[in-house]
Amino acid sequence: MLQKQDLQRRLEQIDGKGFKAYQDLRGDYDFLDFVLHVDKVQSDPFAPPSRIRVSLGQERAGFPLELFANRVRKTALEDYLTRSFARQCRSWSDQGSGTGNSGLVAIDRCGQEILERSSLEVSADEVQARFCIGLPARGRRIEGRQAARMFETSLPALVARVLVYAEHRPQEIKSHLDCCEDQHVLREQLQQRGLVAFVANGAVLPRQSGVSDAPMDADRAVPFASPPELECGFDLPHQGRIRGLGLPEGVTLITGGGYHGKSTLLRALERGVYNHVPGDGREGVVALNSGMKIRAEDGRSVSGVDIRPFINDLPFGADTAAFSSDNASGSTSQAANIIEALETGSELLFLDEDTSATNFMIRDSRMQQLVAKAHEPITPFVDQVRELYTGLGVSTVLVLGGSGDYLDAADTVIMLKEYRPLDVTDRAGQVIKQIPSTRSNEGGAALPRIGGRRFDPDSFRLGSRDKIRTKGLQTILFGREAIDLACLEQLTDQSQTRSIAEILRHLSRRLQQASLSELVDGVLKQMEDKGLDVLSPNPERPFGDLARPRKQEICAAINRFRNLRML
Ligand code: ADP
Ligand code: MG
Repeated sequence: MLQKQDLQRRLEQIDGKGFKAYQDLRGDYDFLDFVLHVDKVQSDPFAPPSRIRVSLGQERAGFPLELFANRVRKTALEDYLTRSFARQCRSWSDQGSGTGNSGLVAIDRCGQEILERSSLEVSADEVQARFCIGLPARGRRIEGRQAARMFETSLPALVARVLVYAEHRPQEIKSHLDCCEDQHVLREQLQQRGLVAFVANGAVLPRQSGVSDAPMDADRAVPFASPPELECGFDLPHQGRIRGLGLPEGVTLITGGGYHGKSTLLRALERGVYNHVPGDGREGVVALNSGMKIRAEDGRSVSGVDIRPFINDLPFGADTAAFSSDNASGSTSQAANIIEALETGSELLFLDEDTSATNFMIRDSRMQQLVAKAHEPITPFVDQVRELYTGLGVSTVLVLGGSGDYLDAADTVIMLKEYRPLDVTDRAGQVIKQIPSTRSNEGGAALPRIGGRRFDPDSFRLGSRDKIRTKGLQTILFGREAIDLACLEQLTDQSQTRSIAEILRHLSRRLQQASLSELVDGVLKQMEDKGLDVLSPNPERPFGDLARPRKQEICAAINRFRNLRML
């Protein structure tokens, strides 16, 4: 291995030279205290900054074993340290008058969710941080002295500040980990209690704004309080007893006047598939991990999905047993989204009237009179939502203020009144008796077993010159095709999008004959066994900007690939 002095010498040699000379820095350097890995050197000052890793042995780092003894605590510790590293980066960045990204020090950015990430890796042997540095330049000339300052002074200080346990407040680390573990335990206990979600009393659900995921200021937000009928308690390992709303399995209708907080509650539940940082307001909001938001998504492509439970006899005989379209309608896209979610094993669906196709959701008695069933391809969701539960064990949480037809289908009815939930299930029962529904049920047909679609490997191959890249949170570029993820509302982090792109790359290389779900399970198993680093093209020099996506979003991305052909 090279020594720290070798790096110093190289920096002196290339000072003032053209930027390309920086390529010589690639390699591993022993800094005595830690090892510096220069994995990838940027090609010019404006290119994405250079990829760096630093490994510090545990004999110096000193993180007690119990902080990463299980997967949840390990993820939470790595999240904590990534955030701490990010804060320090701001003060250690050395961005003066240099060109492009000169002097930048940055690590993956964390949002309100605590996700498994590749940015930091804590093991019994060492702590490793993966981040990036904008190598300093003026114009296209190397600023070797500034680079030397960054590597010889700033970096060791940064390492000593963030990667050493003694530099942190133990209580703060502990509460970060405990909070995350409590959420995990809470989620794990839902099913044995017959619940699909839980919202703790006192939770703050509304966000600061449409573009900020931070909690709404305490002086404006109405804290959550469960209606007494649905209140239940949990004993958590760290926080102890907590109480709140337990959402039972089955069909739950969230109703109430416009602007009374229905969608806000649903969005918090959707995000309850993830753990949140302390102070987020949603630390006590959890939902089954497989819960999937279902919405209309007109314009998406669909490949060979059996949407017969919802759509039959389309004009011109379009096949709905293996429905394909380059430009699905609101209702057919929503139907495909449900079937695809079931294919991934989702046991819980979230729907909001705000983002649903009206003709998919309801068909009232007058319309049944006017347009005979024989001329309506759609079996509205209201006629299948019970069957989803009784036949397949899949629960639904549905926000709907505009149609009483769902009262007959709901097991639980929650009304929001000025952001306060009320249990109106009994009252809804009375209304059903007083005003019986005059519509006839058009469903009843049992949902078919959701089979495993297999896709044609040739439709998923990359050309030799094609690349897979991501653009922000919502787009993956697969060769020349853009995969649009904008409607995946539970995709929360750009690093998840990058992981999905790496998974697509992985799958496009080693396609076997298997169903979509099995293929994705195969990759998930590898991630489970060996961590996120299996996604990096070169596991010896792993990427630091990956975060774990759910199976639901991985499959959803593949399903939105426009060239996909099913066998
Ligand atoms: P609905 O879906 O019932 O029409 P929304 O959930 O969209 O209503 O909420 C309407 C507005 O009220 C939003 O601006 C939201 O931020 C705010 N809001 C929601 N819940 C709360 C709350 N608990 N406290 C304060 N404001 C809230
Ligand atoms: Mg709404």
